[in-house]
Amino acid sequence: MDKFIVSARKYRPQTFDTVVGQSHITTTLKNAIKHQQLAHAFLFCGPRGVGKTTCARILAKTINCENPTNEGEACDKCQSCTSFNDGASMNYFELDAASNNSVDNIRDLVDQVRFVPQTGKYKVYVIDEVHMLSSSAFNAFLKTLEEPPSYAVFILATTEKHKILPTILSRCQIFDFKRITTHDTVQHLEEICEKEDIKAEKAALQVIAQKSEGCMRDALSLLDKIVSFTNGDLNYANTLEHLNILDAECYFRLLECMQQQDLSAALLLYDDINRKGFEGDLVLNGFAEFTRNLLVCKDEKAASLLEVVESFKDRYTQTAKKAPAALLVSALNILNEAEINYKAARNKRLHVELALIKLCYLQQALQLTAEGTAVSKKKQIDAPVAFRALPIKVFIPLSPNKPATDPNTAATTGAKLIIETTPAPMTEKEEPLPLVQDTGTEKFQSGKLSALDKIRKQYRTNGNNGNGYTNHPLAISTLQNAWNEYAGRLKEEKNPAAQPFELAVLRIKDENSFEAIASNNIEKQFIEQDRNKLFSFLQEKLHNRLLQFSVIIEEKTENRPIKEVTLTAKEQFQKMAEMYPLVKELKDRLRLELDY
Ligand SMILES: [Zn+2]
Repeated sequence: MDKFIVSARKYRPQTFDTVVGQSHITTTLKNAIKHQQLAHAFLFCGPRGVGKTTCARILAKTINCENPTNEGEACDKCQSCTSFNDGASMNYFELDAASNNSVDNIRDLVDQVRFVPQTGKYKVYVIDEVHMLSSSAFNAFLKTLEEPPSYAVFILATTEKHKILPTILSRCQIFDFKRITTHDTVQHLEEICEKEDIKAEKAALQVIAQKSEGCMRDALSLLDKIVSFTNGDLNYANTLEHLNILDAECYFRLLECMQQQDLSAALLLYDDINRKGFEGDLVLNGFAEFTRNLLVCKDEKAASLLEVVESFKDRYTQTAKKAPAALLVSALNILNEAEINYKAARNKRLHVELALIKLCYLQQALQLTAEGTAVSKKKQIDAPVAFRALPIKVFIPLSPNKPATDPNTAATTGAKLIIETTPAPMTEKEEPLPLVQDTGTEKFQSGKLSALDKIRKQYRTNGNNGNGYTNHPLAISTLQNAWNEYAGRLKEEKNPAAQPFELAVLRIKDENSFEAIASNNIEKQFIEQDRNKLFSFLQEKLHNRLLQFSVIIEEKTENRPIKEVTLTAKEQFQKMAEMYPLVKELKDRLRLELDY
């Protein structure tokens, strides 16, 4: 087997043209060389593994080349170029400031700078990770950087530009290296695979490119690793396996569970993922990324930001259409929070499960918030109505000529008499059914009405003979007394309905019916709440079994003259306490301090 050289070294670009993804820099450098306008100090900034050192080496080689091309590239043939390619050039020095950051290291370097190059035109000094230099080392270096000998070129490289002193920045020509795009990385990997005779699915290379996050060095070492594991046959599945990446398929399924609010399926799926050796934070992070990708492809313009394996793109777009943005954004929030707190969580598994539970109920929560106003409206409609009377259905007895003596015997003698009222305010079994109905709904056919009259009449006569009661027509004084007595009872019970009862005005309609007039809807509801009890009470008190009443709202303008008075907050409370003593009681009991 041949001596194995890692791809990152073997395929390190040797000319500006082969540098991947940094054409904005290589073009500028080539032009500077072509026009002999080379600066003496450069600062290369950018993330790791994007080609800073590579470009520095190419620059050093090119400016020392004996026969540079017209495009500003090195010839790669001359003695200088070959010595560079072999790593044997005397004109190239590299200092890793991460491990050599003391003043002495810099002094050694500055001493070297004084010697004129034996061969070639330029001596190139590369200081990598220059931000790691101590401040005294920086100061020792500053003088040389300010007035370098004509043959010296300094290339400072850093991943953290913001840590570089302004005095250094101002003396350098600054080049900002970009992250290498997934597309560029994939292309480069494909070229290498072709040269090395490696079989690789495009999806696999895309996964590698995404995992390396714009760092070519990482991408190449990942490629090496997987090639050696798979004997040069890369596919999507084995690449995922070796990179410890969870298949997007799992996230699609997780999303489905979330949308169907299927908590148990989500937890089982997570268990399954866990068994395969994927840690919780990886799942949280992966699902967050997945959600981000869905959000991104909701908008056509932003869809270019979608960084997924190409064969999945359609599926992402289709799924994104069905998932509301609010759901995705909220899910992203939950995932992000869970990821941040993952380290601190003692029970990691439970921590992730909790996030999944939240996600599964998210849709429901969002619906509730969205329907917030609609719900309150619905509630008003659905609110229990204290009393609702339906028209009475009367069936004519089979033998109308033979009236039954009372309802009980009527049933036994075969006459069918069914009177339906809902809810029937009947308290005792022996009592005849009170005929409750909405006023004005009496639209019976004359025949039926006469039957009803017959029954009523019968009850009345029965009352005289059998049960010993007579039906007294309503009189305002007795009615008012009974009403007041009932209100009094409520007051004793500290029932909040007492007040509305006291405030209500009574009006007699005919001998069996009256109206209770409330001044607003709240009072009306209070009265109606007590309707059934009130019914039996009044029937008993007034000796009227055919009693009917309705509660209506009428503004009592004559009693409550409207005065345009502006009340202070305190007066408002006093007024309220006067009208509704319970408010004051509430305040006293809870020892509330009111901030008027
Ligand atoms: Zn050359």
